[in-house]
Amino acid sequence: MKKKSNCSDQVHAFTAWTVRKRWKRVLGYGILVICAGLLYAVFVKWSGIAIPCLFHLVTGLKCPGCGVTQMCVALLHLDFRTAFYSNQMLFLLFPVLGLVFIKYIADYVKTGQWRMGKLQNGILYTSIALLLAFAVVRNIFEI
Ligand SMILES: [Zn+2]
Repeated sequence: MKKKSNCSDQVHAFTAWTVRKRWKRVLGYGILVICAGLLYAVFVKWSGIAIPCLFHLVTGLKCPGCGVTQMCVALLHLDFRTAFYSNQMLFLLFPVLGLVFIKYIADYVKTGQWRMGKLQNGILYTSIALLLAFAVVRNIFEI
């Protein structure tokens, strides 16, 4: 005997379909970003040419993100020591921000809305404050 389809089944099927659709979209963009990053890393590694930091060019000071390209290239080579000394604060925040980003993506896939929770926002703003403080400290003590 065939089960009669009801409204709940249709809603469930539609929800599963939209979640799969969002998942594919996020995966597609993720693969695109990772490929672009890898191509840039290979370009930097072989040519030695990287996009310069405009803040550093103008002021001569290091910004909170200075060294991130070198850090990423070092991480690709599993050279954690060089990665750490390229940008200590970003190196330490990288796993935490990665988890916040993964939760952000997962929430989007589940709900269809790009929103961060209070904890994620708190972590993000704390990270920004730490990076700004690190920028001041790294320029004073030249680390
Ligand atoms: Zn910079």
